[in-house]
Amino acid sequence: TNHRWDSIRGAGVRDTAPSTIFDLILNGSIPATIVRENEHILAFKDINPLAPAHILLIPKDRNGLTSLRQSTEEHIHILGQLLVMAGEIAKDTSLGFGDGARIVINDGKDGGQEVQHLHVHVLGGRQMESTFG
Ligand code: 5GP
Repeated sequence: TNHRWDSIRGAGVRDTAPSTIFDLILNGSIPATIVRENEHILAFKDINPLAPAHILLIPKDRNGLTSLRQSTEEHIHILGQLLVMAGEIAKDTSLGFGDGARIVINDGKDGGQEVQHLHVHVLGGRQMESTFG
């Protein structure tokens, strides 16, 4: 089914959680370097890159997905789309990615999540360490 939100960039939060900085990016109030976009997903450069290439992907309509731990069966499609696009971005040498990338979702407080709108990090352009910090 098509929701009327689908094609309205930034109209995107149909839940009651507080809005986040990503809503300001979605509605164009603050600039971001957008690298890919479709009906459901916006991908843009992280403002504080932790690697030569560092892209964030977010669902345009958060729809309850403040974090991965809030996901339910109704989110399966958008979660799949996010991972497929993450894989496409990870192969994009024009964005600075090389032969591989690290794809990360920080989930909740102990996971170090700071923005309460689900997002996927795609990091690359350097050799990743084998441990997490
Ligand atoms: P988290 O720690 O929640 O997983 O990641 C949030 C990410 O959002 C951080 O990597 C942070 O640098 C990024 N970020 C925070 N504010 C902004 C912003 O205003 N613009 C962009 N492009 N990225 C942001």
